[in-house]
Amino acid sequence: MKRARTGSGHRPAAPLHWGQAGGWIEAVVGSMFSGKTQELIRRLRLATIARQKVQVFNHALDTRYAKDHIVSHDSSKTPSQAVAKAKDILELVEPETQVVGIDEVQFFDEGIIEVCETLADQGRRVIVAGLDQDYRGIPFPVTAQLMGVAEFVTKNLAICSVCGSPANRSQRLSNTKKLIEVGTGDKYEARCRACFRR
Ligand SMILES: [Zn+2]
Repeated sequence: MKRARTGSGHRPAAPLHWGQAGGWIEAVVGSMFSGKTQELIRRLRLATIARQKVQVFNHALDTRYAKDHIVSHDSSKTPSQAVAKAKDILELVEPETQVVGIDEVQFFDEGIIEVCETLADQGRRVIVAGLDQDYRGIPFPVTAQLMGVAEFVTKNLAICSVCGSPANRSQRLSNTKKLIEVGTGDKYEARCRACFRR
């Protein structure tokens, strides 16, 4: 039987399938108003159309809209399960689930990295969406690590509310110093590097 050969050695070439046997991680990151959740929902919908078994999780802290849905700023939504700890996800994922979506991943504890790796190692497609920087412009460690281990990283930009340039920072409009403040349009706006104020 004729075998395809690589440039070096005599091992047969790897098959050209993607994700045929194993899973992978996709990270969709960016500032507020960059369409992260919208993109997550879009990918999950396409999987659903293909009749793949999908499960979606968000953090119990993310109470902006509803506990049993993730909702993007343009009001598209999809059912989800709220969990308090990363490892809760492993207990809730059903054996036949092929695609796992996780929204606002920066809310989770550091265990989320191992959880995502475990799910991908089990042969599942894992799609996480989250903020890459906090209101001070400092990267969220959890998101940064997930970007490091993900096969695919999509970095979305918003539009600066001041000058209209591409924006990758979230300007907090209130004075609170809490690292995580759950909020929508009235508490934050997207800013570019030049218009962002620390
Ligand atoms: Zn600007």
